[in-house]
Amino acid sequence: AGPRFTPDSDRLRGIPTGAYTLVDLVQSHSAAHGEERALTFLLNGVDEAGSLTYAELDREARSIAAWLQSQALEGERALLLFPSGLEFVTAFLGCLYARVIPVPVNPPRLNRKAHRLRSIVEDAGVAVALTTMRMQERMTPVLAEAGMNTLRIVSMDARPADMGRCWQPPHLHGDSLAFLQYTSGSTSHPKGVMVSHGNLLANHRMMQEAFGQTGETRIVTWLPLFHDMGLIGNVLQALYLGTECTIMPPEVFLMKPVCWLQAMSQRRATFSGAPNFAYELCAQKVTEEQRRGLDLSGWETAFCGAEPVHHTTMERFATAFASCGFGRQALYPCYGLAEATLFVSGAGKFAGARSARFSKSELENRRVVEVTGSDSLVPSRMLVSCGHTWEQQEVVIVDPDSGVRCAQGEVGEIWISGPHVAQGYWSGGGRTTHAFDALLPDMEGTRFLRTGDLGFIHHGGLYISGRIKDLIIIAGRNHDPADIEHTVGSSHVSIRSSGCAAFQTEVEEETKLVIAVELERTIEGSPGNSVAAAQDGDIASALHDIVKNIREAVSALHDLSVHEVVLLRPAALPKTSSGKIQRHAAKAAWMERTLKLWQPRK
Ligand code: ATP
Ligand code: MG
Repeated sequence: AGPRFTPDSDRLRGIPTGAYTLVDLVQSHSAAHGEERALTFLLNGVDEAGSLTYAELDREARSIAAWLQSQALEGERALLLFPSGLEFVTAFLGCLYARVIPVPVNPPRLNRKAHRLRSIVEDAGVAVALTTMRMQERMTPVLAEAGMNTLRIVSMDARPADMGRCWQPPHLHGDSLAFLQYTSGSTSHPKGVMVSHGNLLANHRMMQEAFGQTGETRIVTWLPLFHDMGLIGNVLQALYLGTECTIMPPEVFLMKPVCWLQAMSQRRATFSGAPNFAYELCAQKVTEEQRRGLDLSGWETAFCGAEPVHHTTMERFATAFASCGFGRQALYPCYGLAEATLFVSGAGKFAGARSARFSKSELENRRVVEVTGSDSLVPSRMLVSCGHTWEQQEVVIVDPDSGVRCAQGEVGEIWISGPHVAQGYWSGGGRTTHAFDALLPDMEGTRFLRTGDLGFIHHGGLYISGRIKDLIIIAGRNHDPADIEHTVGSSHVSIRSSGCAAFQTEVEEETKLVIAVELERTIEGSPGNSVAAAQDGDIASALHDIVKNIREAVSALHDLSVHEVVLLRPAALPKTSSGKIQRHAAKAAWMERTLKLWQPRK
């Protein structure tokens, strides 16, 4: 039997953790309110191109599951090669209904990106790839080219007609593996995180609390579904709550950011979010006229995470859309990672974005000293609080070298424990032990997850100050590359936003700073003058200005001298499929001299 809760009381109260799985929940939503919408697919911000009710979703999942069972795939890994949309979700759910382990991936558009896919296919030991007929046509040559022609690939829209009646409910419990979530691959190869059914429900319960979700929550997302933030934070959250999620392809947002806001406005959605860059893009690109058509007054939770959250972006966004009824208390900075299923911390519904300034030189020595208005001359770094812990989760700050808890006022590694911490890495071995089995001397018997992130707790708020693997350590001081990159990004108009990588290199046994930065195709010379098509001399002097600005800004704000500034073409820097900068890969390409340098347009 499904969970016992009456649909007309608050749907959510009384969903027990641990005892049930997402499969039970979707089935009971289908039984209780099967005619209600579960999913809607939007072609753009406005036009619907398909939808599923809870009853339809359940029927489709059973039918896919029955087919998977007929192929004896239980316990095997199935690659999900889908564009964003309803088929992705039904295939994902079909796998859970059949106890097949789905492995969501980004279908590569270019042959040269297929190596990422291949490493996941090999790592996960994939038995079958599920897809659509259209996608199969596109992917077959890509897979062949990347040496994956033996991979069995099956289009779900071509499978035998309804087999749902043959479906056998799977034997699942809290510890059963639900799916493999590959990490973004910001610092190394993506790692397959084993998320159990118990992890999923525990994290959903945390999010329900932390986001103050109810049966009235309406979710809109354009985030890629092959990443945890899109899939778990939006689609699965709606299915957990028994409410509606509207899905839009990521490309639509990237091409026309206003589509996201139009969807929010038109559907009176309450919950949606994205990494910082998306808020920045909206603040910059949405025109006055477009704004006039938007009503964002129903937007209760605008979560922002996955990457550093910038105070300036939050401010710009809140100001730009105030006239559309957007309330700044909706801003919801949060922190999480795949190894913890998804969500770790946030401040709570309607708390808004809180930020504080901290002395830079103290942070560089791992100490937390807040700078207030009266010490405005102290070089400082503005950080946005990512809120606090929820439910039974423990969040502690630990000295990563000694493994001992930090004192209040010290920066250290963020360690967490709780029922949402995943089972380990699929092919983990020692990596799993290192990351998932950390112990604290003063908390015997509790296993902690080392997040690899640095941060501190100040006035009850968790602040993220960098990643251990990316840290730049020069003359004994710790610098967060993201902070330096932010400085560089603001130093000249021709530098592309989010187009910078800062990393360290050794030169004659000394550690030096390198800045690789993408420039716009057309660069600006002295204020407002576009020089790409002008004389060579103008271009040289404009480039010279850019380098000078970067050096001066980094010196003034970080007290660092830049060893080399590398000027690059747009999109020259390696990034993850979620748009995060890959500093290690950037450094490797810089050393091999394979980064594409900026050139004037001919
Ligand atoms: P990989 O582990 O493969 O190098 P990744 O860590 O980027 O990639 P994810 O699990 O998708 O993969 O992302 C989680 C990471 O994103 C966190 O560990 C943290 O470094 C960063 N992150 C998430 N939220 C925030 C935030 N609010 N502020 C700063 N960084 C954040
Ligand atoms: Mg990570």
